[in-house]
Amino acid sequence: MVKKELINSDRLVRLFCELVAIDSPSYHEEIMCATLKERLETLGLAVTQDDAGRHYHVSYGNLLGFLPGSAGDPAKVAGSRPAKEESVERSQLPPLLFCCHMDTVVPAIGKKAMVHEDGTITSDGSTVLGADDVAGIVSILEALQILQEHHLPHRPLEILFTMSEEVYSRGMLYFDMTKLRSQEGYTLDLTGPVGTAAYAAPSIVPFTVVCKGRAAHAGFAPESGVHAIAMAGAAISRLPLGHVDEGTTLNIGGIEGGKATNIVPEQCTVTGEVRSLSHKTAMEQLALTRHIFEEEAARFGGEIEFSHYIGCKAYATELSQPVVRRFEKACEELGFTPSLVKTFGGSDNNCLAQGNFQGIVLANAMNRCHSCEEYTTVEELIRSTALTLALMCSDE
Ligand SMILES: [Zn+2]
Repeated sequence: MVKKELINSDRLVRLFCELVAIDSPSYHEEIMCATLKERLETLGLAVTQDDAGRHYHVSYGNLLGFLPGSAGDPAKVAGSRPAKEESVERSQLPPLLFCCHMDTVVPAIGKKAMVHEDGTITSDGSTVLGADDVAGIVSILEALQILQEHHLPHRPLEILFTMSEEVYSRGMLYFDMTKLRSQEGYTLDLTGPVGTAAYAAPSIVPFTVVCKGRAAHAGFAPESGVHAIAMAGAAISRLPLGHVDEGTTLNIGGIEGGKATNIVPEQCTVTGEVRSLSHKTAMEQLALTRHIFEEEAARFGGEIEFSHYIGCKAYATELSQPVVRRFEKACEELGFTPSLVKTFGGSDNNCLAQGNFQGIVLANAMNRCHSCEEYTTVEELIRSTALTLALMCSDE
């Protein structure tokens, strides 16, 4: 059984602060990528970097590291292997993947981690902290360090650090899944207490509607215009915004149009998104939304241009899968209460889980993400590392 005491909390917090200080907004992760590549190599992993960044005119990509399993060194393991565990040869078990993203949301330039006396770690208030996803990255790096230092028996491990996840997994979009040896694994990228894990996540489908009318003088001849903003407004007022059903939401997030107060507006652009735990429902809601805009366009005598893309696709991992059971067992061994939830946020696991890969997303010591109030705590970082280490050493 893995002990929490193995974790070097000073080193863990120091590394967290070091990585937070690296600017790495989406599409600008070159220094973070180079730093992590070197770290993984120093820890003995064979690391490859793909060319996903080429699609975004940057010279780095996703990092994939591999560490063969180890039977450990019983002479050096100093009593940390109870006799009953000797029979399982972890190095021969199937590999496990651990995944985090290298980018952060903005404001992200000049981030500084402030470690407070009560163990809370925040930014200085002018930027996000970047615990999303540095807290996951350091959990993995510290766990790998402990495996080495204490010669712990562990499974073959793959570490995937992706680029530009925060902009709908743009890095994973061009990651070659056939390069993976693992068929199951853990993405560390979820808020909530450590011990929480998401087994289902939604399809997220952003869309843009350009409503096209006809310009006219608002005073002399308003009747000869087709009011694009009124057309958009009529459509929006018919949309079931918010919770459409238990597993589906619809939002209009932006509206822009019109040139001057004395002109009947010719054009109005509306942006929004559908999310649903069912991909089919998401696409049905999208079609319905489009239909309502088309109806209103016809009624007003204008037209629309409708476009969308699949930001990410829904998945639901069966709770009976080993990837879930292993997580639950690791939590129980560490005294954490495992909690399996559905999330309404996407992550790289949305991409991973599309094929035969079985994955869940672990809460990894990050709170109030995507805001300048983002924080983590030393205790949660330790817990996240302990969980990661326990999974790496699991014989399940
Ligand atoms: Zn994240």
